[in-house]
Amino acid sequence: MTRIAVFGTGYLGATHAACMAELGHEVLGVDVDESKLAKLEAGEVPFFEPGLEEVLKRNIDAGRLRFSSSYREAADYADVHFIGVGTPQKKGEFAADLTYVDAVIEELAPLLTKPAVILGKSTVPVGTAARLANRARSLAPAGDDVEVAWNPEFLREGFAVQDTLHPDRLVLGVERSGVGRAEEVARDVYAQLLGEQIPFLVTDLATAELVKTSANAFLATKISFINAMAEVCEAAGADVTVLADAIGYDVRIGRRFLNAGVGFGGGCLPKDIRAFMARAGELGADQALTFLREVDAINMRRRTRMVEMAREACGGSVLGARVAVLGAAFKPDSDDVRDSPALNVAGQIQLQGAAVTVYDPKAMDSSRKLFPTLSYAASTEDAVVGADVILVLTEWKEFRTLDPSRLAGLVRQRSVIDGRNCLSPSLWRDHGWQYRGMGRS
Ligand code: NAD
Repeated sequence: MTRIAVFGTGYLGATHAACMAELGHEVLGVDVDESKLAKLEAGEVPFFEPGLEEVLKRNIDAGRLRFSSSYREAADYADVHFIGVGTPQKKGEFAADLTYVDAVIEELAPLLTKPAVILGKSTVPVGTAARLANRARSLAPAGDDVEVAWNPEFLREGFAVQDTLHPDRLVLGVERSGVGRAEEVARDVYAQLLGEQIPFLVTDLATAELVKTSANAFLATKISFINAMAEVCEAAGADVTVLADAIGYDVRIGRRFLNAGVGFGGGCLPKDIRAFMARAGELGADQALTFLREVDAINMRRRTRMVEMAREACGGSVLGARVAVLGAAFKPDSDDVRDSPALNVAGQIQLQGAAVTVYDPKAMDSSRKLFPTLSYAASTEDAVVGADVILVLTEWKEFRTLDPSRLAGLVRQRSVIDGRNCLSPSLWRDHGWQYRGMGRS
């Protein structure tokens, strides 16, 4: 059993705190957002993440998990400090905003009077961990007994609990291998996982930081690759979904992450590839990552294409049209709407003069906060009433299994655009709908 503090209790931090308690550790979650802390203390997850609430409640009830806004309490209590605060994109720049990560060190380190290991989980530009390690040592009364190591997080929203308790791999970047306690401490914290033979890679700090950003760059590239093929398929009259199935049988390619559609979004991929390009530029290696500009551009073009398709479906202009948008979260099983393609498209279409009504099974509150001027409906049926076109922009199960005959009587025009290629074209067409997918003739 280790005493752990987790700084930042958002998607990553709240999940990590609850899961570390689930492994039997005593955990204190620390945040600056009092309203978030109040919810977590009451056993309520402030966002939607399947299975997390049970883990949270169970461990609060067992007395292993608490929350606080006090850095002093955390410094006195814990021996291991995880950093899970946000690293968003800087406004008007590609680079990552490290204000929050820096703030944790600036506030925590001066309070560290006993030996401590700080394990960073936030996604940071390469070089950050080494800088923070020096800063922590210089600020902490415990001096050289304070160690910083980087332990990047690979969880997927929607599978966060599963991914935290059973990750594909654990990566730990340390300052000097064989020196210091970080590896030993991480082995204790993750003992149960290591017992399950989960690969554990100990690296230098820079490699650990780069593992995370390069993994995200690869995933973004894979999605943009298939979306580029979708553009060519559209021009050539081919079907990108069949193409993806066919190339996906090659195990060197693989079918996963090859779904053409409105592209990627969320709080990670877009900002991480941009921060990666910015950092490579600072290091003089910008040429190596110029392809990520294209990856980003292909991705953003998909949103424009969807707006164009909606316009075409409405006879050349959306002015005065009613458009139903199904899905607002950047992906299913999450309520995260950060840089969500669905909301971005909904916003653009509304600005072109349409009346847009959005429905999402879980992301209504987060959407309203981000886009208060869109209309929101309480159900799919409410959203599609009188619609000239339905856009399916997040592949929630409840949309994948929609019954086209039930919706047919509600809309003004039987027209659906499948922004995730998640519907059956023949089923919809058989019920008299004009079906259009992305990258499909
Ligand atoms: P988030 O915005 O949901 O959470 C960040 C939290 O940090 C917020 O609750 C905020 O109030 C808190 N915070 C800000 N400043 C603080 C401070 N000084 N002290 C304590 N708390 C503070 O963000 P997130 O999605 O959880 O992402 C966090 C980090 O994890 C990012 O670097 C992200 O790239 C990385 N990451 C996220 C995911 C994911 O799926 N969300 C996956 C892997 C990695």
